[in-house]
Amino acid sequence: MRDADCIFCKILDGAIPATKILQDDACLAFLDIGPLAEGHVLLVSSDHVETLDQLTEDQATAMLKHLPALVKAVRAATGCAGVNVLQNNGRVASQLVMHVHFHIIPRNEGDAFRFNWPAGKYPEGRAEQLVQAIRDRLP
Ligand code: AMP
Ligand code: ZN
Repeated sequence: MRDADCIFCKILDGAIPATKILQDDACLAFLDIGPLAEGHVLLVSSDHVETLDQLTEDQATAMLKHLPALVKAVRAATGCAGVNVLQNNGRVASQLVMHVHFHIIPRNEGDAFRFNWPAGKYPEGRAEQLVQAIRDRLP
């Protein structure tokens, strides 16, 4: 399942080059062309699915089983002090390539990567309402 206009599908098909790290039936990992740090890796699904919630459980399992080993290898290869695994869904969430992928981003003291994390607080009763609404929608 590919989208002819999708840059990651083109990489999966070998139509445009990428610095590939691993590939199997479920996924491909390669270096991000615009790294936030040296060793910034993308793990992309083999199927053209836009967002994480559109992956089947089997697709997600087959893809994500590689994540711990990839993070470990990136840490060892770069000597970074930490790693962020980041996954954007939707334009509003800063997703630019509409083909599901995970960022593996090496982190070091004093690097330039910043989160804006404006933590809020639930009013009385709202957390319970939300938990119920989410539970009701799980399979
Ligand atoms: P996102 O904002 O989560 O959709 O991130 C998309 C990422 O894809 C960005 O970090 C880009 O640098 C990266 N990217 C776009 N085109 C390529 C490409 N041809 N090869 C490698 N990485 C790419
Ligand atoms: Zn695609």
